[in-house]
Amino acid sequence: MGPAHLGVAFAVKPLTPKVSLWTLLAASETLDLLAFFFMALGIERDAVTQTRLEHGVTIQTPAFVPWSHGLPMSIIWSLVAGFIAYLFYRDRKVSVMVSLVVFSHWILDVLVHPGLPLFFDNTRTVGLGLWMSRPGLIASLVLEIGLLVSGILVYVIWRRKKRNYARKQL
Ligand SMILES: [Zn+2]
Repeated sequence: MGPAHLGVAFAVKPLTPKVSLWTLLAASETLDLLAFFFMALGIERDAVTQTRLEHGVTIQTPAFVPWSHGLPMSIIWSLVAGFIAYLFYRDRKVSVMVSLVVFSHWILDVLVHPGLPLFFDNTRTVGLGLWMSRPGLIASLVLEIGLLVSGILVYVIWRRKKRNYARKQL
């Protein structure tokens, strides 16, 4: 997934007003940031793909991303992020929300990816693979934009309400 992850961060901000929006945006993309890091180190590699609107994404060489996007590591990264958030905010709710935002990345990726590793190799993978067909690719684009726009809307409406409330208090 792409921008949809950021939509989650925007939508969660009103639930954890203490946490900066930037922190939530980074949390929503943590797994991709880790993938970027692991790929730079040569531990993981991106898939070689071809994208055509007529038949979606065709995979030439599958990705190898068990450390950033494997199920066990995704759970661990989510817990680590929640723990770090706890050290900063000393708030259990904030910690849980940050963990959930990090893990939401995996859930959204499972919808579009053909195979995210379940373990530490590519022997068992999960993924609905929306990207892999023309209607699926179109659906994933609609979902991406839909999630981003609704997340931003939730955030903007919340900010406006908060500002109006503050004004009334003056
Ligand atoms: Zn990802």
